[in-house]
Amino acid sequence: MVRLIKWADAAAREVWAFLKFAGHLARPSSHPAVQVSGLLSLAILIGLLAYISRATVHYAYIPPGESVLQQAELHLLTAVRAEPDAFKPNMRLPHRSEIRSSGAIHLKAFFPEYDLMHVDDPRVWWESDHDTDDVEDDHLVHYAMEIPLKRLIELVHREGGKLKVQDAYRADGIHYPKSLHKEGRAIDLTCENMTLEKLAKLCWAADFDWVFYEAPKGGGHHIHASVRADR
Ligand SMILES: [Zn+2]
Repeated sequence: MVRLIKWADAAAREVWAFLKFAGHLARPSSHPAVQVSGLLSLAILIGLLAYISRATVHYAYIPPGESVLQQAELHLLTAVRAEPDAFKPNMRLPHRSEIRSSGAIHLKAFFPEYDLMHVDDPRVWWESDHDTDDVEDDHLVHYAMEIPLKRLIELVHREGGKLKVQDAYRADGIHYPKSLHKEGRAIDLTCENMTLEKLAKLCWAADFDWVFYEAPKGGGHHIHASVRADR
């Protein structure tokens, strides 16, 4: 934190020095070309500072004595959002479309060999491990889902439940054409020893970008949770 303040102080000094310099260049008596180039440099500098401040705002504070790895492990074990009071059938969180929350599918920028990863955990039941007729692999998810999924596995396990992955990456088949399952950014879940309402709450606490308690009239109730690609 002290380093960040020092950095901000140094940056402020630089900006002040530059503003003085730019002011000097842009004096009314200066040549118009000099004025324009001065203002142009100022605009570039402001843009640069805006970009840097956007980039630095995500830096996490690491307490002294704790390594980044320890922090990351801790981050995986704890909920990052409060559980909602209720999560009723057909409810979604946030209360808006999946596209607005997790982003639309963009298959042109999706490459299964680079974007997908294999997740495994003995505490989880994976549907494709028990289904010999199908070619799908429910261990395959988008890299963007790794942290919320691993965190969810931990949270469900701690509450005494057994997470069941019913469907993850699906290149084609049962899902509609723009389904995020086609990029491995959506996952369908059920649970043993835990209600679907509780599971939906934990998905939200685990930081999925969109959680939907799917409760079709014909049955097959499950939790569909998805993530943005640019997490
Ligand atoms: Zn789904």
